[in-house]
Amino acid sequence: MNNKENYLYKRKQSKTTDFVMWMAFPGIYSFSMSSLGYLWMFKTLDECEDVNVERICSDTEKTRFNIKDVKLFGFSFSFDMDFLTIFSMLEKYSIPLKSKERTDEPLIFAGGPVVSANPEPYKDFFDFFIIGDGEDVNLTAVKICKNAKNKHEALKLLSEVEGIYVPAYPGKVKKLTKRLTECIYTPIISEDAFFKNTFILEMSRGCANRCGFCLASYLNLPLRCVPYDELLKTINLGLSYTDKIALLGAQISAHPHFHDVCKYIYEKIKSGQKIEMSVSSLRVDAITPDVVKTLTAAGQKNSTLAIEAGSERLRKVINKNLTEEQIFNAVKIAKDNGLKGLKFYGMIGLPTETMDDLEAIVQLGRKVKAENKGFDISFGFSSFVPKPNTPFQWCGRENTKSLEEKANFLKKELHKIGISSNVSSIKWDYWQAVLSRGDESLNDFILEVYKSGGKLGAFKASAKKLNIDTDYFALKNYSFEKTLPWDFIDISPEKDFLINENKRLLSDFI
Ligand code: SF4
Repeated sequence: MNNKENYLYKRKQSKTTDFVMWMAFPGIYSFSMSSLGYLWMFKTLDECEDVNVERICSDTEKTRFNIKDVKLFGFSFSFDMDFLTIFSMLEKYSIPLKSKERTDEPLIFAGGPVVSANPEPYKDFFDFFIIGDGEDVNLTAVKICKNAKNKHEALKLLSEVEGIYVPAYPGKVKKLTKRLTECIYTPIISEDAFFKNTFILEMSRGCANRCGFCLASYLNLPLRCVPYDELLKTINLGLSYTDKIALLGAQISAHPHFHDVCKYIYEKIKSGQKIEMSVSSLRVDAITPDVVKTLTAAGQKNSTLAIEAGSERLRKVINKNLTEEQIFNAVKIAKDNGLKGLKFYGMIGLPTETMDDLEAIVQLGRKVKAENKGFDISFGFSSFVPKPNTPFQWCGRENTKSLEEKANFLKKELHKIGISSNVSSIKWDYWQAVLSRGDESLNDFILEVYKSGGKLGAFKASAKKLNIDTDYFALKNYSFEKTLPWDFIDISPEKDFLINENKRLLSDFI
């Protein structure tokens, strides 16, 4: 408990139970307080009369409950490398890492995009996983754990629940998809949050654009939008506590009322209310004069524009059908309506990419800069990582040396024309790809990585020590006939759809 926290809901102060669970965030406190999903999950459990739930972060020093009394310990698992922090948090409380080595210790589970997409590399460490949207099933899982006579009974019952994967009881598991009838928001606002005193709310979940590489889209289909009246009610709730709000969603501009929300905020600002508003990265079609005017009136100076690739050809290949003209228009609108700069976000090493596509990025930068003097343009790149349950899941990644050459080329050429850029670590992206498409053979590998310190060198040394061909997971093109480690997860769209989509996007170029 932190006295700089402001709860937006009425907490139940005295609980009628001795059932204790910890909800853990594998990162420091300030990040946890800007994590919408994690905080919302906490709220739903905190509101239960018969559960004592406590939040735990990697930098938590003192806990309200003793680990001896904790029956259930859940982790939010959003990034591939989170396993390193999760292991160190388990060890901090003297919990054996592998589930088969635990007896009286609490049941350990995880939920979040990484394990929803492919839990296999982590299956030895967790007693169960929540697959997909966990808001509702979380309560069912807690109830089962609370009422079961013992761990074995709890796991057996959990394995029968839709959306829960218990490695001890393998079989098909259906991914959960929640209807967004209510608006999810940060139920606690904190001065010490990474986004200080900011009320974050989710306008929509998923993205209908279906870029071939995009897990955020495919894992969250169909696109769901919060009803407009719910949105306004939630915005007003947030504004009664703070003047800083952030709208979240992979494709918020696709919300049928996105423009109405912007107008609503704009009018409040014009009538004298102080509001700072930010939005997650914008799509080109969201950049209209009204939206930009609202953002600038609400204090936003810069924004991010995801273009993914420099050439129209490659954007078409990845299903991001965005013309150069649309990009130029968006930049002009952003500039004319008060933004100071835009950061373009792109990816290198996408399937079928050639040097011409990279040249196209530089050309684009040059043209945008020439046409928009005084406007701050920068670029950020990451490298392609094949993700489960996407049409590009069968595509291997380019080797590290070649990607590093491409990254250096872009940095050098953009620097020459006065544009700054940064590129994510190609080497870390390689290990992310290994984990993304990994199978159960990686469980011992990640344990070895952790024990060896978790740095880049530890990954390489551990693979060598355990004789694991990591290139097979990261670099190889897979055939459509291959059984994939995550095939047991029943997800929509199904594999046949992904195969057809892969063929539709790539067949002209491979
Ligand atoms: S537009 Fe963005 S969020 Fe939507 S599918 Fe493409 S990359 Fe993903």
